[in-house]
Amino acid sequence: MNAIAEVAVIGAGEVGARSALALRRLGFAGSIALIGEDPLEPYELPPLSKDFITSEEAPRTKTIASLADFAAAQIDYRRGVAARALDRGQKRIVLSNGETMGYGRLLIASGSSPRRLAIPGIAPDEVHVLRNAAEALALRDAFRPGRKVAVIGGGFIGLELASSARKRGAHVSVIEGLDRILKRGVPAEIASVVEARHRQAGVDFHVNTSILSGETRAGRHYLKLSDGTMLEADVIVVGIGAVPNTGLAEAAGLAIENGIRVDDQFRTSDPDIFAAGDCANFPHPVYGGRRLRLESWRAAVEHAAHVARAMMGETVRYDAAPWFWSDQYDLVLQVAGLIDEGETTIRRPIGGETFLLGHFAADGRIVAASGIGPGDSVARDLRLAEMMIQRSMTPDPAIFADPAASLKTLLKPK
Ligand SMILES: Cc1cc2nc3c(=O)[nH]c(=O)nc-3n(C[C@H](O)[C@H](O)[C@H](O)COP(=O)(O)OP(=O)(O)OC[C@H]3O[C@@H](n4cnc5c(N)ncnc54)[C@H](O)[C@@H]3O)c2cc1C
Repeated sequence: MNAIAEVAVIGAGEVGARSALALRRLGFAGSIALIGEDPLEPYELPPLSKDFITSEEAPRTKTIASLADFAAAQIDYRRGVAARALDRGQKRIVLSNGETMGYGRLLIASGSSPRRLAIPGIAPDEVHVLRNAAEALALRDAFRPGRKVAVIGGGFIGLELASSARKRGAHVSVIEGLDRILKRGVPAEIASVVEARHRQAGVDFHVNTSILSGETRAGRHYLKLSDGTMLEADVIVVGIGAVPNTGLAEAAGLAIENGIRVDDQFRTSDPDIFAAGDCANFPHPVYGGRRLRLESWRAAVEHAAHVARAMMGETVRYDAAPWFWSDQYDLVLQVAGLIDEGETTIRRPIGGETFLLGHFAADGRIVAASGIGPGDSVARDLRLAEMMIQRSMTPDPAIFADPAASLKTLLKPK
């Protein structure tokens, strides 16, 4: 059976589910189809490395929108169905259930996939990755008291999983190829707070270390590390970054550049096809049109709202500062803006162990802020710094550094 949708959306994750509903809210009256390969109702990914694994009760996904929401909005939600090919000439999508679907306009919101690591001597299906609920469930089951977990990659997902595995009573070793954890996008001062907290919880680190080979004997893995260690592990999980899901777009001839290349209206090189979220590479006006591909929950939520408006024919300006957070143990770390745009760093103590770093460009603009502390202790000041970043402000560094001065005073027009 063949169907036609005036708007088709590929990928029913954060961007796909939200933008389909947003189109309806904005008054789009035509037919909408949402194609999602995951069999579950659309759900949030951030809890999967955190509460979903550590909760005492049986884990449940945090639903973004229910079947009833889609039915009420008259959205034809195809769950458990993947888009396999895209024919731009005929304006149709080939689906995994054998159907084809015609479209008027298309949004690709296919997200990203974990980068895989082949370990010589270890069967690929023995190496866990995390992107969806089924994989999170497998990890939750594997993280048991006394078991040995090798986490490969000291980035956000790896470290959140290390924290969750410790909370479940497993022993954890983190193996990081670079000279420190969180090297991409997090200042060394914050990374060292994170590392100290992990060490306090009993996590063991091997930095500047790669895996030379492995072996599995009687259900246990043995990893030969480049630092000379022979590491025993019951569970191996890899968190070494993600790659954008661009396969369909690339095969269909759309412009690709570390993601699906879109303009400032989230339009691809085909005027009838849009892309947003983890899979899209877009120009950011706050950073002089620098192209970015973000893997962040809030960016996905904001992209969904903006791309829906752009698909309705509005001219949108997406200028939100990039922002993400990570929860590990009692600590929350947050980063807003782009740290590599900064030349100098100003430290602002906030009280207790909490602190904020302001990253300033040579012309005095604040281009990023990063902070860490227990619970929401860094949230307020980080939010204020984020507003300065978005407005390309040049706050006085002395006031920024002074914990007695409110950052709000810096937001007032001079
Ligand atoms: C474990 C984990 C923890 C995270 N924690 C944080 C955090 O603490 N803070 C933060 O800021 N961000 C976090 N993120 C990142 C954030 O969740 C993502 O950036 C966001 O979900 C991206 O939204 P998206 O819609 O682009 O992609 P997704 O939410 O991944 O949605 C894409 C969907 O498309 C589907 N799909 C792909 N290809 C096809 C196809 N051909 N046909 C049909 N369907 C397809 C996928 O199955 C998926 O459901 C985390 C991500 C993960 C995986």
